[in-house]
Amino acid sequence: VSGIVFSGNPLDRASNQRRDADWVAARLAEPAARVLPLHRLRPMVTDAPSLGWLDVPALQPAIDRLGAEAPIFLGLADGVPCFALGVSDPALEELAASLEAEGRSWGDPRAIAPLLPPGDAGVLAQARSVLDWHARHGFCAACGATTAPRTGGASRGCATCGASHFPRTDPVVIMLVEHEDRCLLAHGAGRPGNFHSALAGFIEPGESIEEAVQREVWEEAGVRVRDVRYFASQPWPFPASLMIGCFARAEGDHLDVDQEELETARWFTRAEIAAALAAGGAGEGYTLPQPVAIAHHLVRAWCEGRS
Ligand SMILES: [Zn+2]
Repeated sequence: VSGIVFSGNPLDRASNQRRDADWVAARLAEPAARVLPLHRLRPMVTDAPSLGWLDVPALQPAIDRLGAEAPIFLGLADGVPCFALGVSDPALEELAASLEAEGRSWGDPRAIAPLLPPGDAGVLAQARSVLDWHARHGFCAACGATTAPRTGGASRGCATCGASHFPRTDPVVIMLVEHEDRCLLAHGAGRPGNFHSALAGFIEPGESIEEAVQREVWEEAGVRVRDVRYFASQPWPFPASLMIGCFARAEGDHLDVDQEELETARWFTRAEIAAALAAGGAGEGYTLPQPVAIAHHLVRAWCEGRS
């Protein structure tokens, strides 16, 4: 499925080589090496817009200051080493401000992602998710001692108990439920406006994708579904989810909505959805997900008979 924002990361993550600290250090020392700084998880972007890569010397003061929390190795772009560096440390505020310049600023990741060249949003997703994980895993979950990055930042290690810790990705199922010629969309409780989207929820431990779809739809909308079909997936770096898009067929159209989770849920006809999509997502009394979200692609595919 094309056009899924945050997918299509072109980098070669060099998973085998990055285990070697000397190899990673040599990549950072290459004159061509480039670093993407992120301030409070917002990436440096240019007006173009594109990712605002800098060379290593431009960030050397920050790199020196952060010590062990060196730039995270993201991968190779046609052989060019690419790194990410978080500059959110309070001691780096002045430096972070100095990086802003004519045509270069900290971008809102969600707003900027759909505007970036193909693949760049995928690099942004990787950088954002992994930096967020590092920022929140300075202590060992096994023994409480401090941890330090390993393998170019693809993991952290505890020197006290020897445990290794790896960034996690949280799988979320998002499913468009269909019944005859209608699909089910809902407005989440406490959500602003009249935004309607597909049902979604985190996969629980010991659960398959299909089981999570069936459980979530039953819990939130009181509908039994079968025939769960995988559509496409999307990295969603807020902070580190993987959205797993599916279609499912409802056994009936009676709804029993869980008011804790959803304000409303109802069936929409194909004609209603087609009209709303043609109007940029604005239907009568509701709005549909924008193309940045996989929900948009689920709805569009269903509407066009590709479910
Ligand atoms: Zn430990």
